[in-house]
Amino acid sequence: MTTTSHVLAEIDRRTDDLIRLTADLVGFDTTVRGAAAEPARDEADLQEYVAGRLRAAGATVDVFTPKPGDLPVSPQTPPGLGFDGRPQLIARFPGTGGAGARSLLFNGHIDVVSAEPRREWTSDPFRAEVRDGRLYGRGTCDMKGGIAAAVVVAEALAALGIRLPGDLLINTVTDEEWNGAGTLASVGYGVRADAAVVPEPTDLDVVVAQRGILGGTVTVAGRPGHAEYPPGDWRTGGAVNAIEKTMPVLTALRRLREQWAEDPAHAHPLLPPPAIVPTTIKGGEWWVTYPASCEVALDVTYLPVQADGGGWASRVRHDIERAVREACADDGWLTANPPRFTWDTELPPAEVPSTHPLVRALTASATAVGRTPRLLGEPSWTDAATLTRLGGTPAVCIGPTATRPDGSPTLHTIDEYIEISDLVATAKALALAALDMTAPAAAAP
Ligand SMILES: [Zn+2]
Repeated sequence: MTTTSHVLAEIDRRTDDLIRLTADLVGFDTTVRGAAAEPARDEADLQEYVAGRLRAAGATVDVFTPKPGDLPVSPQTPPGLGFDGRPQLIARFPGTGGAGARSLLFNGHIDVVSAEPRREWTSDPFRAEVRDGRLYGRGTCDMKGGIAAAVVVAEALAALGIRLPGDLLINTVTDEEWNGAGTLASVGYGVRADAAVVPEPTDLDVVVAQRGILGGTVTVAGRPGHAEYPPGDWRTGGAVNAIEKTMPVLTALRRLREQWAEDPAHAHPLLPPPAIVPTTIKGGEWWVTYPASCEVALDVTYLPVQADGGGWASRVRHDIERAVREACADDGWLTANPPRFTWDTELPPAEVPSTHPLVRALTASATAVGRTPRLLGEPSWTDAATLTRLGGTPAVCIGPTATRPDGSPTLHTIDEYIEISDLVATAKALALAALDMTAPAAAAP
């Protein structure tokens, strides 16, 4: 038997353990925070559990809690973000070294989105349950299954006495579902490799590109007054309806979205066009009072080509603010009281060229385990962007079940599940990628 077939057979032999490990990870409540001050849950316990498994397999493991100020300064996170109770983990299986050996990193986020409303689940979201070849539970596909696959790959290699040429690293992080703070902290801590795989759910397709994300709020001012009286003239102190004044702002944002989508410069072979989506709206104070303000939250997705020289969204912000300013130009109140923008979360877009050896290796790995992988773009965002853009580590996603048979996503849903066949295929694809990507690159023909 070849090394490859030994490794694949060893992973098959460990299928039950792989399912059990995924279920164990689901049992830790690592529901993501949505604000800096929210208390931690079971994050530290999960990281210690993973650390114990990896140490037993021979890794040197560092579980570290970044201090406020440790993070690279980045628009991704609020300044001074703390991680009390939310440690990050980096494990290293040292390679044998030698000329041309390359290191490979597996990165996965341990946080999951809220399981609410829990009563709508068929089974407890935090007690994973096997039904009909699937494992159900919060985080099974996104992405505790991917983390379990990475751990079992390392354990299988260790059990077979295989030391890879280059280092194999495993990095498990928090906060991906919020703002990517855990991987950002890991990058700041020095986590890097020649290449990285993030086993997010992809249906075993190879995801090489993703859009950037910009989150912000636009606030439109009004002036309060009794809603059952004529408002009078705003120039002499009359009331102004902030909700009505928001309408030209929303129209301007929709028009800009349409312009972006039609712009040939925004045609990307793998990614959807950029977009601006108003996602929440809050306006007014009392039902008999002209509203004094109206606030609209915006979710903006933008393409790598729209990023500024540093890779961030300054040009996108500028375009949005200008479009709104122009739309307000013929309104006296809005000219005198221009809508105010505040921008908070900003996540960078990223792309790894399809000719990169990592993309070729993952395509070959997925093919070798019986899949027909496509090269795809990610409509949302993952930590692969932080590794690629800020960590000097080209990162690509490949992992298990992302869609139901009808094509709708299973991640973030009630009754989230992972196909057990995909869990095993992911572990095998990661193992093959590790064998391939840590070896010295083949000489060009
Ligand atoms: Zn995820």
